[in-house]
Amino acid sequence: MGGFGSGRGQGGKDTTSDMRALDVRRLQRDGLLTARRCFMWKWSRNGEEVASIQIRTETDRVILNYRSRSNGGEWQPMEYPVHLEWTPCNLGGRRVWFLCPAKGCRRRVAILFGGSIFACRHCHKLAYQCQRETDDDRAMRRAETIRRRLGWEAGIANPDGGKPKWMHWRTFERLKTEHDAFADASWAGMTERLNLINQRLVGFGH
Ligand SMILES: [Zn+2]
Repeated sequence: MGGFGSGRGQGGKDTTSDMRALDVRRLQRDGLLTARRCFMWKWSRNGEEVASIQIRTETDRVILNYRSRSNGGEWQPMEYPVHLEWTPCNLGGRRVWFLCPAKGCRRRVAILFGGSIFACRHCHKLAYQCQRETDDDRAMRRAETIRRRLGWEAGIANPDGGKPKWMHWRTFERLKTEHDAFADASWAGMTERLNLINQRLVGFGH
């Protein structure tokens, strides 16, 4: 069983260098897709092994087996099948595909990307966006908690209030600084998502 860290780089962004690509065409070329094989697949950087997984082959599926951990947490054992699909080539022979194992996806793809789970590019992008949303939501909730404490009107879109009479200036300044940071983070996330959606809409127009 191999070790596999799914990392988040500095600044909390997923770094693509932490993603491992598993190319089914490469496995086919190397003759590794015949049933009842078991082998290690390794990734290295600068000649040093950085990740590995065990792959077991069955008829029309492979079983991935590895350990995963995110953000330096506990290692989790992972084991699940990825189904294969074969399509005829124009020039004869068959071409092999992975069916993305992510829930509700099953896209036919040549390459799966491994973060903590191996999934198609589309699924990873989706997961990344959801993660960002929860980060934004958390920032918004924290800003709201501080607004309540300060007796300000709820909602970061509303104007900020002043210092409650009973509160020390120092406490007020600290809370206001925290509030502004959380509110900014929340706004930044929302703006980024809106931009992304706009870009997509523009993209579809062409
Ligand atoms: Zn997928």
